[in-house]
Amino acid sequence: MTETHYQYIDGVWTDGDSTDEITVRDPAAPEDPIVAFSGASETQAEEAVSAAAAASDNWAATTPDDRDTILYEVAERIDANRDALAETLTREEGKPISSGRGEVSRAAEIFRFFASYARSATGETIPSSDPETLTYTVREPLGVVTLITPWNFPIATPSWKLATALATGNTVVLKPSSETPMIAKQLVELLAEVGVPNGVVNLVVGSGSTVGDALTTDERVDGVSFTGSTETGQHIAETVATRGIPIQTEMGGKNPQVVLPDADLEAAADAAISGAFGGCGQACTATSRLIVHEDVADELTAAVVERAEALSIGPGLDDPDIGPAVSAGENETNLEYIEVAEKEGATLQTGGGQPATPEAGYFVEPTVFTDVEPGMRIAQEEVFGPVLGVIEVADFDEAVRVANDVNYGLSASIFTTNMAKSRSFTKQIEAGVVKINGTTTGSHVQMPFGGMKASSSETQKELGQHAYEFYTHEKAIYRSDP
Ligand code: NAD
Repeated sequence: MTETHYQYIDGVWTDGDSTDEITVRDPAAPEDPIVAFSGASETQAEEAVSAAAAASDNWAATTPDDRDTILYEVAERIDANRDALAETLTREEGKPISSGRGEVSRAAEIFRFFASYARSATGETIPSSDPETLTYTVREPLGVVTLITPWNFPIATPSWKLATALATGNTVVLKPSSETPMIAKQLVELLAEVGVPNGVVNLVVGSGSTVGDALTTDERVDGVSFTGSTETGQHIAETVATRGIPIQTEMGGKNPQVVLPDADLEAAADAAISGAFGGCGQACTATSRLIVHEDVADELTAAVVERAEALSIGPGLDDPDIGPAVSAGENETNLEYIEVAEKEGATLQTGGGQPATPEAGYFVEPTVFTDVEPGMRIAQEEVFGPVLGVIEVADFDEAVRVANDVNYGLSASIFTTNMAKSRSFTKQIEAGVVKINGTTTGSHVQMPFGGMKASSSETQKELGQHAYEFYTHEKAIYRSDP
């Protein structure tokens, strides 16, 4: 296999030395691999942890100014290289190039936002019960943290974990998805270029089953932040549980958009299209259930179907509305779920298969089902593709009951002009992100992000003003002067 140097351990780029082969393909033209290389071995994962542990004290002792300066510089470099990074991202993940550029700019925004944490992730002074004693809290870095990330936002998700961890003085081992290692490598190259010291950031590209345990159960690892599927997240949480270290798992979703009869139906249809089919439905916050009041179900369905049929499908680099699924596996899963939905009695309104063009690539048409019952698999399980199920309900209470009747609880939205109903929805809905008259996807960097139920360990949220809490110990200090 050719030398590709995807592993970055203690400041040295090197090849993986396991027998696992990692093959990166353009999902719009998968016949010819872009690159193939050996994944990291368990020993290399241990070496990455050793490097992070050795660098930990010195990095924790850097001044906030030093860390802030470095992270701002990373943001500048990301912006300066936006087009090249976006092209890499789109080639290996498949999303439309304009979305790729948007995600790269978002990564720069994230580094800028969290750079300021270096100076502001503070403790508090708290009124003391004893006039002779000063009581306050301090925040200290955890030490070594392992960051495990999925492929669907392959620069934004690593960025928000890396930037928060580094700003608060932690050293890290990043394990990105094997579907999208190229963009992870380019991001780490930028970090190295701006002078992040050796060992502070390490990159391990390898199969989860080969390197996962070494990166999560090693006693020198002080925290694990994971984003990915619920199945993997729960496995990691169980594996790490006995060590008693902080673990954060942000996982899958089955996100509902509720539409009441008084809603602006045009806006609701636009949001459903963007939420269900943007990014080929491959967002953890993608809209997968459109829960509609029966009085407006036909009108809304017609508007959604009309819009879905107008969407262009094609290679991400051509900037269509919808790119391919990331991999052959995801593509098969999408098609399987479409078959299951039809077998269970849902009615296919549009889509339902691979488009006639493009011929190559992992493309699936934007698909809308009606007559979906809340108990069907299509209404319960995360599809992670461009498949939307319309569920009719008789009233607001039923809408909320159906919306909550899944294991997941990541994001949810309601379209209504009734403020009392929307307030009631925010109270009753079991979701970590709630939108009123907005799409289930998308979040602001300064707002906390994370789910409930099977979507999250609900330890601490990511993003937002307090994301630093996960990456720091809080100590309560009682100071009585002699
Ligand atoms: P995945 O769970 O298959 O993989 C996620 C990461 O875990 C990858 O880096 C993978 O290599 C690694 N991994 C796999 N087995 C492991 C093990 N035993 N030990 C350690 N690491 C291991 O998920 P995916 O297919 O990459 O991503 C899609 C999923 O991610 C969807 O379920 C989606 O909803 C979820 N997701 C959630 C959020 C969120 O914030 N809630 C954001 C994006 C994606």
